Amino acid sequence: STSAAWYFEEWRRQRAMKRIPPRPIELRSDEIVPGVIGLIGNTPLIRINSLSDALGVEILYLNPGGSVKDRVALQIIEDAESQGLLHPNTGSVLFEGTVGSTGISLATVGRAKGYECCIIMPDDVAMEKVQVLEKLGAKVERVRPASIIDEKQNLARKRALEFGATELTNIPAHGDEIAISTQADPAEVVHTDTDGGGSLIPQISIPHILRPALETKPRGFFADQFENESNFKAHYRGTGPEILRQTSGHLDAFVSGAGTGGTVAGTGRYLKKALPDVKVVLSDPEGSGLYNKVKFNVMFDLKESEGKKRRHQVDTVVEGIGINRITQNFSMGMDIIDDAYRISDAEAVAMSRYLVEHDGLYLGSSSACNLVACVRLAKTMSRGSRIATILCDSGSRHQSKFWSDEYLKAHDIPVDPSIIDQLLAS
Ligand code: PMP
Repeated sequence: STSAAWYFEEWRRQRAMKRIPPRPIELRSDEIVPGVIGLIGNTPLIRINSLSDALGVEILYLNPGGSVKDRVALQIIEDAESQGLLHPNTGSVLFEGTVGSTGISLATVGRAKGYECCIIMPDDVAMEKVQVLEKLGAKVERVRPASIIDEKQNLARKRALEFGATELTNIPAHGDEIAISTQADPAEVVHTDTDGGGSLIPQISIPHILRPALETKPRGFFADQFENESNFKAHYRGTGPEILRQTSGHLDAFVSGAGTGGTVAGTGRYLKKALPDVKVVLSDPEGSGLYNKVKFNVMFDLKESEGKKRRHQVDTVVEGIGINRITQNFSMGMDIIDDAYRISDAEAVAMSRYLVEHDGLYLGSSSACNLVACVRLAKTMSRGSRIATILCDSGSRHQSKFWSDEYLKAHDIPVDPSIIDQLLAS
């Protein structure tokens, strides 16, 4: 058997004997892939030569293909199918609130499987994501920029209800293995959450899956990436085992940002279970509350956020990571996050330009953020250590903002790759 469970068991056995396990990777390049869905998962881990050579610490990234969200979209849809909540080619519509990546993945997998897609997006995300969605045949609705009272999620939920979904509570989307490994009590996490001034942050306390009413057609389904545990599961069962397998367990840290928290929680928890000494480190853009939550157990730094017009909005050019509330998916990994770095827009922009110049890597904004955190972390580690991260998507989805020098200039964000040279030399 070559299942993830087998690799894990084999790895544990070999590790107990202090032997390095074999590296049996299923190569996909000599196979014919059965459709677009066959491309999802099992992607290579790649060494970033420029940074690894400069630091003496190996920085590896998992290339998730189109986007880190492809695995999540597939898992959400397949879990809903197996629970009888979705049936292909019956006019069912997937609804989701997203800054784009999850929408594009849902629209792609949805097309391949026979579902329509309706995506609610904040009106300030890069326009090219909307264009891709529309070309994929998704209906796109725009709302004001996301805030803690998460307008896009609420509207997606409402639209799903209008389309024949009914609320359904308490569906465990995960298997027993995950339930056992999840020690954090999500309820407790939510209630200890303060805004730094001691008052509770309003949480959207909602059941996370909407069941299409059997008698109504066509049916709506709210994917609910923030609360739906299928998101965590995609990474716990997919991304985590892949990284373990490809590194043969030679791994010292895993770095990830959090938008829904699915990646850091699912991958981090799996890796930590397999390799208890692995450090799980969060890369958090400026303005996000998670850094303070991880470092000081408060969501907001009041001094910093005072005077900001939209206090609950993450004010950054980085799209897809950074959030000011604890989602169900983040809470499933909060207890295993060891440290966090706060990354400025200028650093993320500098990293993106540096990597094009040195490695020919054209990356999206959250990927660049992750790599700045990798470099900061590498500076604290001994030579020969190894860090894995995820490069979530490509620069082509970020051309009109993160990759636009005019946009950055208009928002006073410098474009200066020498920031990275200084960071490497420091
Ligand atoms: N990068 C991008 C481009 C994203 O869209 C997202 C998801 N919002 C993430 C990273 C973060 O992943 P997660 O939702 O698993 O925390």
